[in-house]
Amino acid sequence: MSTPDISLPDDLLPGDGRFGCGPSKIRKDSFDMLIGSAGHFLGTSHRQAAVRFKVSELRNGLAELFSLPDGYEVLLGNGGTTAFWDAATFGLIDSRSQHLEFGEFSSKFAKAAAAAPHLGDPEVISTEAGHHPTAVPMDGIDAYCLTHNETSTGVAMPLERPHGTDGDALVLVDATSAAGGLRFDAAQTDVYYFAPQKCLASDGGLWLAACSPAAIERIERIAASDRWIPAFLDLGIALENSRKDQTYNTPALATLFLATEQVQWILDNGGLEFAAGRCDRSAAAIYDWADSHSHASPFVTDPAMRSHVVATIDFDDSVDAATVAAVLRDNGIVDTEPYRKLGRNQLRVALFPAIDPEDVVQLTRCIDFVLEQLA
Ligand SMILES: *Cc1c(COP(=O)(O)O)cnc(C)c1O
Repeated sequence: MSTPDISLPDDLLPGDGRFGCGPSKIRKDSFDMLIGSAGHFLGTSHRQAAVRFKVSELRNGLAELFSLPDGYEVLLGNGGTTAFWDAATFGLIDSRSQHLEFGEFSSKFAKAAAAAPHLGDPEVISTEAGHHPTAVPMDGIDAYCLTHNETSTGVAMPLERPHGTDGDALVLVDATSAAGGLRFDAAQTDVYYFAPQKCLASDGGLWLAACSPAAIERIERIAASDRWIPAFLDLGIALENSRKDQTYNTPALATLFLATEQVQWILDNGGLEFAAGRCDRSAAAIYDWADSHSHASPFVTDPAMRSHVVATIDFDDSVDAATVAAVLRDNGIVDTEPYRKLGRNQLRVALFPAIDPEDVVQLTRCIDFVLEQLA
């Protein structure tokens, strides 16, 4: 089926048409800075001062952004969040983990743990898409695996240590689409890990993890044990390298640069409260619009669970959301398609800090215009 030929009027268009959930919008100022520094940064050794200084700036900037308690350290390595799940399966879970599963991303870590021959069967607590489960303290669980924001469904959950867990259990949080956009208390987490192509407005391929002293201790103990761990996924090796502001193997320098720019931009403007405040304004714009719309509604029915970094908007049967997304795409507004496996008549819109809340307002006007033309 061909896309209807609908041209959006210029005065409705957002200043920037990138609304994808990752890779996501990178601010022009960031890549202008990258181009300005390219000649003495890109194409230079990651073992030398220029790049190590950038890594140090990124690690320190994240510690400040998250108000990390004393003793927490920021680790990094290659391969993005997906590689980190495997690294955590080898180097953070002692014998048995509990996973809260409420969408595609949270289910993947559970699958990795279930497949690992050196671990016991994980405890998986699931809810249907559009909601989130709550961790249940259980004897024998040494790692509680949460997801701050389930990017596939647009559900965010508050981060809290499960009450009454035995003292050694760690709380591991996939914060890939949340880190730098949602508020949280780092003391409630032991490993807050993510990749920088979402709220940090950079490119993919890197993982970052803010680790508590208890997590560092776990990493060191397992790394020193006789468990076989591939070097690329060995968090003990990642720890050693991170402390030297390096990575085990060659990182993408542009990714490091752009992530650092975004962290500095957020810090210069007031820190996490600034970034989360922008996301709040974008979220209010799109959810209020959808709530009062005759053909649209927020997919997540409980307002407390609605993500302020990824909005999912359902449409009734009179609208074909895929056609709306295609028309928007033809007009330069890209990546509003829903998560493919969720299979709903829906648009999904990133509300990351780099995205201007005013552009989210414009997007809602564009959608209304397209709906009128299609009707
Ligand atoms: C995007 C995303 C991932 C996957 O990140 P990669 O860097 O592509 O591996 C994992 N978890 C969540 C919550 C995400 O949003």
